[in-house]
Amino acid sequence: MPGIDEKAVHSDSAQLLNFFDRLSEAPASALLLDYDGTLAPFQTDRDRAYPYPKVIPLLESILRGGKTRVVIISGRRAAEVKALLSPLDSLEVWGAHGLERMLPDGSYRQVSIDPETADLLSKARGWVNEAGLTSQAEIKPGGIAIHWRGRAAAERERVEARTREGWAALGINPELKLLPFDGGLELRVTHPDKGDAVSTIIEESNVHSQIAYLGDDLTDEDSFRVLNGRGLTVLVRPEYRDTLARVWLCPPHELIGFLEQWLSRVSA
Ligand SMILES: [Mg+2]
Repeated sequence: MPGIDEKAVHSDSAQLLNFFDRLSEAPASALLLDYDGTLAPFQTDRDRAYPYPKVIPLLESILRGGKTRVVIISGRRAAEVKALLSPLDSLEVWGAHGLERMLPDGSYRQVSIDPETADLLSKARGWVNEAGLTSQAEIKPGGIAIHWRGRAAAERERVEARTREGWAALGINPELKLLPFDGGLELRVTHPDKGDAVSTIIEESNVHSQIAYLGDDLTDEDSFRVLNGRGLTVLVRPEYRDTLARVWLCPPHELIGFLEQWLSRVSA
């Protein structure tokens, strides 16, 4: 298994080519995708973070081929992801970092949170309102995210320091964790995380199924850790950073190339 000091290789690697060769032969496959920063560029207004051009038609064709289970695993609420990808109706979506699961037939389940942790989260929400941060807050199952994309650096730092201090004062238990992400900070339940979602998907998959996970953020490292040794892990990001992923793709061009390659391999 690779260490964090082992660099992911770029898109034309033998590793990627070998994966696509196995994909051509495989009876089934699973394409696991983060949403923000991976399929969609970041936007200051997060309600307008639509996918890169070609993403929807490509995923639609991959789904129509019937050989690939396409799964979105996002920190957003599942319903938000569904709406942003609305032309796609046979998607499986895991929301709130794996706490929610929405199947292609629309069925939905949510992992329940123990009462003590739910109470702490409710206090943390109260603090956010008292601190005047409501307009920057995203309240979701099992978590609260404070967003500061598009704000000046000094203000970002001020809000981050204040939020960390305010939440720390509530006495966070081990069931909760602080999660820095690209554009903000989230207080959320320690489990499930995205890696737990990937674990479940692996368990549900045929041993010969080829699985890949594409993600950009620190929360995706849990997924990379779980999938390494079983499937292909891909960091999608304009700039390289340390990662457990084995391959690095620069969006949107190389991401689109990857999806086109996937489609051609499962269509042949
Ligand atoms: Mg992301």
